[in-house]
Amino acid sequence: MSICQTCEMVDTLASPFVIYQDDLLILSHCVDMNVPGYLILSPVRHLVRYDDLTDNEAVSLALLLKRAVHAVSQLVGVEKVYLLNLGELTEHVHFHIFPRYGGMCDDLNAKNEKGVIDGALLFSQARKAYKVIDVLWINGLSNN
Ligand SMILES: [Zn+2]
Repeated sequence: MSICQTCEMVDTLASPFVIYQDDLLILSHCVDMNVPGYLILSPVRHLVRYDDLTDNEAVSLALLLKRAVHAVSQLVGVEKVYLLNLGELTEHVHFHIFPRYGGMCDDLNAKNEKGVIDGALLFSQARKAYKVIDVLWINGLSNN
């Protein structure tokens, strides 16, 4: 039976990527990208819609999101922290906490014709440029 990657991480007690986990939430490093401080925050329960969160989960998620953004924004070189909730490749509700470092915009050619940073373009370009592994390898990790 196939299990989603987030649920597998929740079930993998010794995952080296997990930063924090309680009964409601799991905060982890993004496993397939070489971007320091790029974190993923998810509910523990397998939910595919944000509005399926309980009020308690939603409040807890908002508070941990705030704290995670604050921590990531303290990393050297971070200019801004993006928050995204897309759910296309991994349907389990999750937020990308993505640090934009100085120089990233130029490296990824992520400014529009007026020279303004296009955050959505930058994130998309970064996901291609800084990808280091296929996330499916984590399935093997949990079998060790
Ligand atoms: Zn799941």
